[in-house]
Amino acid sequence: MVLPEALRHDLSDIPMLDDQRMIRMKSRDFFWFSPVLKESLDDKVADLVVVPRDKADVMRIAAACARHRVPVTVRGGGTGNYGQAVPLAGGVVLDMGKLDQTIWQRPGAGRFGAGQRMLEIDRLLAPVGHELRFHPSTRQLATLGGFVAGGAGGVGSCTWGQISDPGAVLGLEVITVEEQPRVIELRGRDVLKVLHAYGVNGIITEVEVPLAPAHPWCERIAAFPSLAAAAAFAQAFTECDGIAKKLVSVLDPRIVPYLKRLVPYAAAGEAMVIIMVSEPQADAFEEMVAERHGRVTFRRSAAEAQEAAFNGGGDLPPLYEFTWNHTTLHALRHEPTITYLQIRFPPVVNLELVDWAAERFGDEVLLHLEFQRRFGKVTCSSLPLVRYTTAERLNEIMAECDAKGAAISNPHTYVLDNAGWKRVDAPQAEFKRSADPHGLMNPGKLKDWRIEPAPEKV
Ligand SMILES: Cc1cc2nc3c(=O)[nH]c(=O)nc-3n(C[C@H](O)[C@H](O)[C@H](O)COP(=O)(O)OP(=O)(O)OC[C@H]3O[C@@H](n4cnc5c(N)ncnc54)[C@H](O)[C@@H]3O)c2cc1C
Repeated sequence: MVLPEALRHDLSDIPMLDDQRMIRMKSRDFFWFSPVLKESLDDKVADLVVVPRDKADVMRIAAACARHRVPVTVRGGGTGNYGQAVPLAGGVVLDMGKLDQTIWQRPGAGRFGAGQRMLEIDRLLAPVGHELRFHPSTRQLATLGGFVAGGAGGVGSCTWGQISDPGAVLGLEVITVEEQPRVIELRGRDVLKVLHAYGVNGIITEVEVPLAPAHPWCERIAAFPSLAAAAAFAQAFTECDGIAKKLVSVLDPRIVPYLKRLVPYAAAGEAMVIIMVSEPQADAFEEMVAERHGRVTFRRSAAEAQEAAFNGGGDLPPLYEFTWNHTTLHALRHEPTITYLQIRFPPVVNLELVDWAAERFGDEVLLHLEFQRRFGKVTCSSLPLVRYTTAERLNEIMAECDAKGAAISNPHTYVLDNAGWKRVDAPQAEFKRSADPHGLMNPGKLKDWRIEPAPEKV
């Protein structure tokens, strides 16, 4: 679009990126994991990137965009996978990176600037013995605001569930995109209005979340003779409520070779379980592995694991950077035709359905499992690697899983309404009518919304 000169003028004292290379970089996320999205999003680019220094700047940007009817797409770390942060209609990208203050923290809860990176939050909390309950495997770059607006769960979900669960977000501060922007505090169930809404209905400026006691999380890898044996172990281990744990991930034997640096820790044909467990309880984990005929192949102390996560120390990155959607990233480095899906297996029958999927799709779909505790039950989800052939084939696989009762969220669409279990629900669209009355926020991500044309004179 042609950006009104008056908008640049109105914002001229706010830091902005005008360099074409930087603008292009800040207009992209990890949509290229999907060959389908790659085709439709590769050429989308903002006209301007603005970097507000504080909330007052955010208010001015929101007001100017509303006045001049310029689209505005909010950006955190830009690590989303579905083109959530890609400005489909150009306009302004609002880089939240400078809203990175800790507002307050006390035992049990903390409030943080939406642009604060999740690793940074944990680094700051470590001396007081607390931490975020969970974070995506992109902890290093992902912001708390971006996680709330575009993420789901991750490292810690084996104990604490997902970001959409009741109580996982205590409060949010949101700024509306209107000529006179309002600051709104959403609390309790009201946070669902903007949760996982891709920033279509308000600029999140502060996030209040419960905190967990930080355990000394050591890392272990165990090898098992088959995917089924590893999955059964992971289920039993996650169900052990008395053992504090932060990560329980299972990798199909055929995935291990893609994680090059982990290859020494499983023999050919062995499945792998990656865990983070409270160090004093690591022996309890090892006993369980032995009882189930697995073998522990890698051990890293909590101090070393924290050093790897916080300062990049040691020979290996933190092990969580091989799990969740990092598995896809590693695989893509070796086989560029690989893509992925998102499957959530229902509790109780999850292992049965894992067996079914492994058998049904053979070498086309390779499962890795992320174990989670939700609403008192243990289950697993998967971001399976798929050897891509066509978009039609992806749709067939998704339809077959859905029909079998394994819930699918389609990662090959940027339209929120089409994304399966992450589908938009009523409060999000309803809230948009009030928080973004001109339809300027991240246009194209919600169906049936149009940008209102600019008034004749602004
Ligand atoms: C290798 C890899 C591994 C991943 N692993 C996980 C995982 O384990 N779990 C998981 O849930 N996700 C995962 N993801 C997806 C993504 O990293 C996370 O969801 C992350 O939390 C997104 O945060 P971000 O700051 O990068 O958000 P961005 O990508 O910048 O934004 C995400 C969405 O939120 C909106 N947004 C951002 N900030 C704000 C704000 N302040 N106000 C309003 N809207 C806003 C954006 O417009 C966009 O629609 C992974 C992605 C990759 C590439």
